[in-house]
Amino acid sequence: MTPNPSTNHPAARVAGVVGWPMAHSLSPTLHGAWIKACRDRDPSFEGVYRAFAVRPEHAENAFRSLPDSGLVGVNVTVPYKEVALRVLNEIAQTGKAHILGRARDIGAVNLIRVTPEGHLTGDNTDAVGFIEGLYQAGADDLGPAVILGAGGAARAVAVALASRESGLPNCEDVRVVNRTLDKATEIAQLAKSCGAKTVTANTWSDAGRALEGARLLVNATSLGMHGSAPLAIPDLSLLAPDAAVYDLVYVPRETELLKAARRQGLTAIEGLDMLIGQARPSFEAFFGVTPPDSVDARALLADARPANPPADWPVAIP
Ligand code: NAP
Repeated sequence: MTPNPSTNHPAARVAGVVGWPMAHSLSPTLHGAWIKACRDRDPSFEGVYRAFAVRPEHAENAFRSLPDSGLVGVNVTVPYKEVALRVLNEIAQTGKAHILGRARDIGAVNLIRVTPEGHLTGDNTDAVGFIEGLYQAGADDLGPAVILGAGGAARAVAVALASRESGLPNCEDVRVVNRTLDKATEIAQLAKSCGAKTVTANTWSDAGRALEGARLLVNATSLGMHGSAPLAIPDLSLLAPDAAVYDLVYVPRETELLKAARRQGLTAIEGLDMLIGQARPSFEAFFGVTPPDSVDARALLADARPANPPADWPVAIP
């Protein structure tokens, strides 16, 4: 692998995001703005963050070759969050003190750091990013919660909601709705193992029962995402009148679900908030500083398009 594939600054710390395809990643835009703000504050600061498009047949080797790449670490996005878990030397453990350090429960990794010894340490920042969105919206009193979907994002949401270490009162009643019931059952059990007292698993035909009286509805399916099928909006009038509706989809920013929630007078929480919340600890891990407050990340990403075409991962593995 060619070292430092994307920079003219040999002293710069280089990080990036790995996925396939990489057409829609906004992470380089966000990290790039934070890097620029750090440099404005301290001209000796050097950092680079790039998108890397890695073909599925190269993914595992690409992660294994990270210590030789010159990169300080990478974020991992679709479809590699589970693959990445397999190649790690260790998973960051913060015990029960913080919602970070729960990658094993979530079953996925979205942050890999290369240690000075050349080991790969993984973490999952999606759960903390999800919580950040709740904080931003002031939705800190969690009653019964409905999770639509049972993929990787739903796992992070289930851990975040049910865990006491999230910093919010944990959600004791978690209801999962998914097309595939077995997967809904798995997420419901995960929520229970993290601290929820009552859990149910439902198919879409039982969505109405799940929504009844709930104070939080989370869309963790890929439905409603640009290029995906639309989400059939459930009957939001079944929710509690002070409920919040959180759509993890962030392209478009204002989804049909969020529009419906606003029409109903409910609190609407955008997926962008989670995106920004999960990026913050990554930036800190890669560049050793907190992202500067001077960057208005929401405004930046509101109309952002992916900045540069992704670089091909410079895999030079025999
Ligand atoms: P995933 O693992 O592929 O899961 C997709 C989920 O959507 C599954 O529950 C799947 O149901 C359901 N689904 C897909 N097509 C469907 C259809 N036609 N009808 C009914 N259900 C359908 O994806 P993921 O990684 O969890 O991501 C889910 C969404 O969250 C994506 O839009 C992603 O962009 C977003 N996300 C956002 C953030 C953020 O920072 N805002 C972070 C992570 C993810 P089955 O189980 O039945 O297949």
